[in-house]
Amino acid sequence: MIRFNLLVVALLTTTGAAFAQDAAPFPPPKTEPPIVTPGRTNSDPPSDAVVLFNGKDLSQWRSGDGTAAKWNVRDGYVEVAAGTGDISTVQQFGDVQLHVEWATPAVVKGEGQERGNSGVFLMGRYEVQVLDSYQNKTYYHGQAGAVYKQYAPLVNASRKPGEWQAYDIVFHAPRFDEQGKVVDRARVTVLHNGVLIQNNVEIYGLTYHDRPALYIAHSPQESLKLQDHGNPVRYRNIWIRRL
Ligand code: MG
Repeated sequence: MIRFNLLVVALLTTTGAAFAQDAAPFPPPKTEPPIVTPGRTNSDPPSDAVVLFNGKDLSQWRSGDGTAAKWNVRDGYVEVAAGTGDISTVQQFGDVQLHVEWATPAVVKGEGQERGNSGVFLMGRYEVQVLDSYQNKTYYHGQAGAVYKQYAPLVNASRKPGEWQAYDIVFHAPRFDEQGKVVDRARVTVLHNGVLIQNNVEIYGLTYHDRPALYIAHSPQESLKLQDHGNPVRYRNIWIRRL
């Protein structure tokens, strides 16, 4: 133990010395940051985004059984068709930046989890909750912007029912070792209507509603999924960037 402590002290001392010496400016990186043309507004897809829904069709999406997605597209948005099931992207993704706009029904129906419930499932597994959380109380780690049953949002930045809202999400995919054990948990940052509500939180695993979270190994890239929770929630302008 004493030897170990001495080693730690030696390491700290060495690191401290190195830190002092490295206080000079860092040399510039050898590669230039790629040039990306931003959209006209912060919600328009930038030039390197994969546009998953542009208001016209669901060609980028499939139902759970692999058939064509059956939600209703009209007037530039897609609306959950209750009972037709979740929809998932044809393409698969790992670490991403995601923009998604959504609106809960203007005509308020139900209470708590039954009001405007849907969800954005990163890698088809880790849910950022979509819910009408405007004057609608529920358990805090189940309201809009929650990492479902794990983290409440830092604030409630919800707009009124029927109004368009946006999530901007930065997601770090989990990493698994050869035995399927998680060695690096998923992390997520979420802005709700431009307001930070999840600050790089570490996800504990699958966002079950009725049992503790756990990790089950999966591919480095998986489909993004939107939830059919039986409520006619609308989505538009969905784009994603691979990181
Ligand atoms: Mg949900």
